[in-house]
Order: sequence, then C-alpha cells, then structure tokens
Amino acid sequence: MSKYHIGIDLGGTKIEIAILDEAREIIFRNRINTDAHKGSSHILSQIFTVYQLAVNHIKNAEHSLGMGTPGSLSAKTDLLRNSNTLCLNGLPLKSLVEKKLNKQLVIENDANCFTLAEALMGAATNFKLVFGVIMGTGCGGGFVINKRLRVGPQFISGEWGHSIINPSGPKCYCGKNGCVETYISGSGLERDIKEKLNQHLSAKDFLNQKTYTHDEQEILNNFYHYFGLSLSNIINIIDPDIIVLGGGLSNQKGLYSHGQKEVYKNIFSDYRMTPIKKNKLGDSAGVIGAALIGASMSC
Ligand SMILES: [Zn+2]
Repeated sequence: MSKYHIGIDLGGTKIEIAILDEAREIIFRNRINTDAHKGSSHILSQIFTVYQLAVNHIKNAEHSLGMGTPGSLSAKTDLLRNSNTLCLNGLPLKSLVEKKLNKQLVIENDANCFTLAEALMGAATNFKLVFGVIMGTGCGGGFVINKRLRVGPQFISGEWGHSIINPSGPKCYCGKNGCVETYISGSGLERDIKEKLNQHLSAKDFLNQKTYTHDEQEILNNFYHYFGLSLSNIINIIDPDIIVLGGGLSNQKGLYSHGQKEVYKNIFSDYRMTPIKKNKLGDSAGVIGAALIGASMSC
C-alpha cells in the first residue's frame, strides 16, 4: 500500500489538493482557481498544476490518487454527468485526467467523499450507517455502511438532492420539478426569496437574520418544512444511525433545533432519535474523502 494518499477536490470555483500520510494526517494542502469559464482544457491544466505541487512535495514518492467532484461517471458510458461545472458533462473525465497526469486515479461524487471522510475521521466515526448531506449551492448526499461507501449499480446512491418532494414545485436544472435541491439548497432558498420578496439576498444572510417580517417568516418556515420532509423520507426508508450535515448552510444552528423538529414530525416511529449533527472536518472533508477513496482502491 502506498505511503501517501493524494486527494483532489474539483469544485466549480476551486480545485483543492491534499496529501495524507499513513496516519491519515494532512501533510500538504493547496488550492487553485478552477476558472471553469475558460473551459475543460484549462481545468485539466489547473488540475495538472496543483498535482505537480503535491508530487514535488513528496519528491515523487509512490502514492494513491483520488478525486471528488459533483456528478458521477455514467455506469454505461464512463462519461461525467450531472456536474454543475457544465463544461465537464459528457466528457470521459477519468481517462482525461489520467492521461494528463500520467497516473491512475479513482473519481467519486463529492458528497460521497464528504460522507466517507466524516464516517472515517469526522463526526460519524462511531456510527454504522451514515447518511451525509451537503447543503451548499446545490444539495447532495452519500451513504457509508460499516465504513464503506455505498455506490450502487447506477452510481447514484445518495443522490437525494434530486428526489422530487413536490411534482408541481419549481423547475430544477435536472429537468424535473420540485427536487429537494430546489427547496433547501442555497440557490433554492435564494430563488424563493427573489420570487416572494423580489430581493437578492444570500441564503446565509437570510438564515442569519435576527428577526423576520411576516413574509420572511413564511419563507423560513417553508425552508424548514422541506428540510424536514426531505430528511424524514431518508430516515423512513433506511433509518440511518446518524445524519451529518456539510456544505455552506450546515453552519446554521437552526437546522439542528427547529430543522430537527421538522424532521422528527414526519418520522414513522413512536420514538425519534436519529442524531442530526454538524460535520467535524469542515471544508477539508471533500479533499480528505477524495484521498481516502484513492487509498481504499490502492489496497
Ligand atoms: Zn433536480
């Protein structure tokens, strides 16, 4: 097994890289802009640049390589789909990156990387069945069972952000209406604020307000209502031992009080105890998870 594990978190805005040593300690990290508007060739060059920095740091020592990114490779075609970095969709991302870096790698969905990192090293280390949630610009999820990632035959396990909770709800970029993501992601909440109040306000600023007008309170109640519906559906189906929240909105304390109450309202049980916890690894979870994915495949 390699002594070093390199992880790359390829996001729409930043590309982050980290090296874990044998003890899973981060010994190097760096980040670079994705500059997604410059296209896929530029993104590949940016990946190459940060990868070289990491490889130089360990003096070209043997290492595994994993990469996390939104979306997933199609089980049928190996082409990337469902990424919010739209210029990468439809590309054979794994083989393109392997060719560019001259190195084998494992690619996994970013929410899966987050969940694995939290299950192995973060807030969920003592739990068997972990559901990890990312609530950022979009919404993603992942399952880890007994420390192993559940991927599924179609590679869509945990793609909870595109479960439909209201068929006559807002249009989602995926082509459906009323997906979880259209209600409880940052972009979903911001759309709701714009539609109802005709204001451009960030989801974080809105959720951090100390007081709310009547109309604002309605939007807030709606947000928590759909947070409750979407997570109680998960609990009723698979009854996870813990739910860990990540992404930009996971710092909102209300999710763990008012939000949890809304979840518990809809659980089909006389005893409701599923812990809903904030992540421990913060922004590092994605890149750590990517390194862990690479490590697990190199054993
Ligand atoms: Zn959708």
